[in-house]
Amino acid sequence: MQYKKFCDVYERLGATTKRLEKTKILADFLQKLSNEDKKVLYLLQGRVFPDYEEKVMGISHQLAIKSLARATGNNENEITNQWRKIGDLGKVAEALTKTKKQSTLFSHKLTTKKVFDNLRRLSELQGAGTVSKKISLISELLTSASGVEAKYIIRTLIGDLRIGVKSSTIRDALSLAFFSESERKEAVSEIQHAYDMSSDLAQIFELAKKGRKSLSKISLEAGKPIKVMLAQKAKSIQEAFEKCGKPLAAEYKYDGFRMMINKKGKNIILYTRRLDNVTKQFPDIVKSVKKYIKGQEFIVDSEIIGYNPKTKKYVPFQQISQRIRRKYEIERMMKELPVEVKAFDIIYYNGRNLIKEPFAKRTKLLKKIIKNKKYKITTADQKIIDNEKEVQDFYNQAIKDNQEGLMLKNLKAPYKPGSRVGYILKLKKELRDLDLTIVGAEYGKGKRVGWLSSFILACKGKKGEYLTIGKMGTGIKEKKESVDAKEPGISFNQLTKLLKKNIIEEKGRGVKIKPQIVVSVTFQEIQKSPTYSSGYALRFPRFTALRSDRKVSDIATLREVEKDYEAQGEK
Ligand code: AMP
Repeated sequence: MQYKKFCDVYERLGATTKRLEKTKILADFLQKLSNEDKKVLYLLQGRVFPDYEEKVMGISHQLAIKSLARATGNNENEITNQWRKIGDLGKVAEALTKTKKQSTLFSHKLTTKKVFDNLRRLSELQGAGTVSKKISLISELLTSASGVEAKYIIRTLIGDLRIGVKSSTIRDALSLAFFSESERKEAVSEIQHAYDMSSDLAQIFELAKKGRKSLSKISLEAGKPIKVMLAQKAKSIQEAFEKCGKPLAAEYKYDGFRMMINKKGKNIILYTRRLDNVTKQFPDIVKSVKKYIKGQEFIVDSEIIGYNPKTKKYVPFQQISQRIRRKYEIERMMKELPVEVKAFDIIYYNGRNLIKEPFAKRTKLLKKIIKNKKYKITTADQKIIDNEKEVQDFYNQAIKDNQEGLMLKNLKAPYKPGSRVGYILKLKKELRDLDLTIVGAEYGKGKRVGWLSSFILACKGKKGEYLTIGKMGTGIKEKKESVDAKEPGISFNQLTKLLKKNIIEEKGRGVKIKPQIVVSVTFQEIQKSPTYSSGYALRFPRFTALRSDRKVSDIATLREVEKDYEAQGEK
């Protein structure tokens, strides 16, 4: 497919803010799309791989500017100035390419395949000379691009497409494109389910085109990442019984991070909640899984918690969070920050897909195949309870054991990948914490000069937009470098480095930041406030942890904030 033709779709999508119109435009496009070109669906999401591929292009604005300078013969500073003025590097690229093109007689016709090839190679480059190779790959594309094409190449590279299309829009468009009106509603949930199972839109496109029967055939496969089932908050124990039925299963809510453990023959593959493959980082877990879980093939859902190697006391998530990203000195990390697997669900076992089985049955199987070994791998502490008093006692015990509270589960419920359904409810000690993203910041003064030091936090609105909810400056360390195993947390310097890649705009000391990282924040109270676009403000927000295991799409929604605000009033 000509890239130009694909850019026309981007343009039309970007030209309307109405979701229905976007769905219609996409549906028209999908109807004409051949299976051969199906991967352009990744490009619609600003990617060149399916969701579960963790490879990233890793292009900063700086590198994009350098490539643009090379391709158009303009000066880097000039491009930077224009970017500051316009605020959209894509538009700058468009303007520069247009003026240049007038004097160029020959330009190659770009295909989506060529764009894919070069962008994919970007994510595979490693080692010495990487930067200059990256610049060559990008400027090669830009040199043969028209104005509009250059705009979208740059926007894809910096991860800011500005077309307002989410995976749910593509889901609705697939349903509109391939199903009759009477089938459409059901098709939407079947497409969503298939997508939650496979995390690969190109594959779902192919199946949807064949019909609902094909969609329903999508099955689980050990080794392939799948989205995890998520929990809702329970306001009270009574509410939990109403939603989960009697009796329910109560388990400790461990303060760690989610892991999907896959075994396929001899291979163990470990995924986080954001579908990152972290097998290399956790050889200790691989070993325990081989030794203590019986079975040829399985997918086990679990929480990983850390403990102090000397005192054997469990430690908060924050202290082991660095193990998720750390790719060197793994041996040392394993000794200093040992972890234990707390397995709590199983969705696939030796060729059997279990997601439609009731939780009671799944948990029974899980207990059968795991040989509990403390500090290595055990099933989650669980009680089957039919009265409030016992839940309260178990909850108190969990808090005494330094865990976050309880998870209350419906024993009859299936496993719903990717959904925040009411089959699992959380009862937490700390009502006052939220996962949020950073959308802006200010450069500091005095001893914090050169660092970003005050961070604007945001939650997610109904349409997926980001709504600000307060400014945070505490909980972050002053010392220049980080922060190793003995001292968890993050320094201003580290956080600045992380965020700098995502700066979209600078004005005086203030910067606008592309929402990409997730932070856990505690606070004293939520207040109504006209200052922030969410309509709420957190009182005394404090950084507690960088959640590199979570995606921006996981952050708290405005609805959750409202609920927390109301719950506060009730207390
Ligand atoms: P939250 O992150 O507050 O939404 O709480 C949900 C998370 O709690 C899950 O995604 C898991 O990572 C974690 N968790 C801890 N213990 C359990 C458990 N026994 N069952 C399910 N999830 C658990």
